[in-house]
Amino acid sequence: MRGNPDAVIVGSGPNGLAAAVTLSAAGLKVLVIEGAPEIGGGCRTQELTLPGFRHDVCSAAHPLAVASSFFQRFDLAARGIRFARPQVEFANPLDGGRAAIVYRSVADTAARLGADDRSYRRLLGPMARHADDICTELLQPLRRLPAHPLVMAGYGSRGILPASVLVRRWRTPEARAIMGGAAAHSMLPLTAVPTGGIGLMLIVLAHGVGWPVIAGGSARITDAMADAVITAGGTIETGRWVRSLAELPSGTAVLLDVSPRSLAELAGDQLPGRYRAALSRFRYNPGVCKVDFALSGPVPWANEDCRRAGTLHLGGTFEEMAAAEAAVVAGKHPENPFVLVTQPGVADPSRAPAGQQTLWAYTHAPAGSDVDMTDQIEAQIERFAPGFRDLVLARSVRTAAEEEAHNPNYVGGDIAVGMQTLRQTVFRPTVQWNPYRTPIRGVYLCSSATPPVPGVHGRCGELAALTALRDLFGIREAPDISPARLRPAATQSVI
Ligand SMILES: Cc1cc2nc3c(=O)[nH]c(=O)nc-3n(C[C@H](O)[C@H](O)[C@H](O)COP(=O)(O)OP(=O)(O)OC[C@H]3O[C@@H](n4cnc5c(N)ncnc54)[C@H](O)[C@@H]3O)c2cc1C
Repeated sequence: MRGNPDAVIVGSGPNGLAAAVTLSAAGLKVLVIEGAPEIGGGCRTQELTLPGFRHDVCSAAHPLAVASSFFQRFDLAARGIRFARPQVEFANPLDGGRAAIVYRSVADTAARLGADDRSYRRLLGPMARHADDICTELLQPLRRLPAHPLVMAGYGSRGILPASVLVRRWRTPEARAIMGGAAAHSMLPLTAVPTGGIGLMLIVLAHGVGWPVIAGGSARITDAMADAVITAGGTIETGRWVRSLAELPSGTAVLLDVSPRSLAELAGDQLPGRYRAALSRFRYNPGVCKVDFALSGPVPWANEDCRRAGTLHLGGTFEEMAAAEAAVVAGKHPENPFVLVTQPGVADPSRAPAGQQTLWAYTHAPAGSDVDMTDQIEAQIERFAPGFRDLVLARSVRTAAEEEAHNPNYVGGDIAVGMQTLRQTVFRPTVQWNPYRTPIRGVYLCSSATPPVPGVHGRCGELAALTALRDLFGIREAPDISPARLRPAATQSVI
C-alpha cells in the first residue's frame, strides 16, 4: 500500500472484514492485519483431515448470515455465494429412535409434537410470521427503541425467562428437547436468564430464515468480503500478530476485531484505569472441544429424519442437556455431554469425495480445558447412530485450550467471546452508550465482544465502522456496500 492507510483493522474475522468493507465503500484506504496465516477468523474452511474433505474450521450453520441486513446489502448471492438448505433445519434425537424434528414450517414441526402441537404453534407461529422484524431488532444494538414494539414485547416477555421456565409449557420430551438444544448454544446453565431468549431466537431463525450451510464452505463468505476490500483498493496482510497499538501507523482510524482482554493488552497504559478495570471484569464462557470427522458414508442415525438434518443437538432430554451444561459451568467434563453436530453433506455434496461425508461436532468444556473429549463426543453420536464409529476414516481434534491458541479471541476456548448474561447482552463489553468507542480517540472495538450478538452476521464490524466514519470522517450516511458500489481500484494487494 502506498502511503499511510486511512484505517487499520486488526483481525480478519467476519466482523473485521465487515468493518473493512464498510470503510472501503466509504472511500477510505484500508489496511487489514491478520495474525493467522490465512484470513477468515471464525469463518474458514480447510482440509483438516484428508485430501478432498473440506471442513468448516469454526462456524458451519448460517441463519444469522441469512438474517443479517449487512449481508443482504452486501448481496452474497450476487457475489456467487449460495446458501445450501437441508430439508430439516435441526433435530434432537432421543433414545429409542425418537426425535424432535424442526422444519422450516411451524405447522410441520408442531404436527410431530403430539400433546404439544397446539401450544408450539401458539408460541412459535406469530413469532415465525414476524421473523424478519425480530431478526432486524435482534441484530441492532439494544440501546435503541424497537421499530416493532408489539412484536418485540411478545418475544421479549418470553425471552427474558430461563429456558428451564419457558419449557414448562411443554410436556413431550420432543418439544422440551427442541428448547433445550437451542438454548444450550448459550453455554449458560439452562436455569439462567436469558437462555430462553437465546433458545427462542434460534428456533425463530429456523422457522423464519432456516439454518443453511454455505455451498463450498463457510470460507466463501469471508473470501467474498476480502475480495470486496481488495477490489476497492484495500490491502490485507496475513501472518502478522499485532502486539501493541504503537506498531500501527499514527493518525489512522484503528478498529480492533479482538477480545476485550486483547484490547487491554494492545492498548496498555493508554487506557484509563476505570475502563481497564471494566474490561477485566468482562466474563467469558466455558470453552469448546471440537472434533471434525472424515467419514466413509452418511451417519446412520436411528431416526430416519435425522439423516436429513443440517444440524443436530445431541444429549437426549431437556433435563439431560441441562445437567450436562450445569456440569461444564461447574468446571467438570460431563460423561454424557451436550454435543452440537452439523452434517453439511446433506445439503452440500461438494464437501467430501463422492459417497463420503464430513462431520463437524463440538461439545462444551471448562474454560481453558486441554482434555480431548473425542470419546465422549463419539459415544454420544453412537448412542443415536449405532455403527457411526465404523465409518470414521480420520479425525481432527481441537481442545478448548487449542481453540484459544489458534485464535486469541476465543479466551479459554469461548467461541462467543463473552457470556451472554442479561447484562453482557445489553452492555457489551462495558456499560457505555456507544460500545464500539474506546476511551482512546480513533480506536474502536469491532469484534463479537460488542453488540448485537456473537455469530457470523457482520453487524458488530459494520456498526463499529459506522461509528468511526461519523466520529473521524464526518460521514453520517451508511455507504453503499452492494457489488455495484465497490469498483476495482488501481492498487490491489494481498501480502
Ligand atoms: C467452533 C466454532 C463454531 C462456531 N459455529 C458457529 C456457527 O455455526 N454459526 C455462527 O454464526 N457462528 C458460529 N461461531 C461463532 C463465529 O465464528 C464468531 O462469532 C465470529 O467468527 C466472530 O467474528 P469476529 O470477526 O468477531 O471474530 P473472529 O472470527 O474470531 O476473528 C478474529 C480475527 O482476528 C485475528 N486476531 C485476533 N487478535 C489479533 C492480533 N492481535 N493481531 C492480528 N490478528 C488478530 C484472529 O486471528 C481472527 O482471525 C462458531 C465459532 C467457533 C470457534
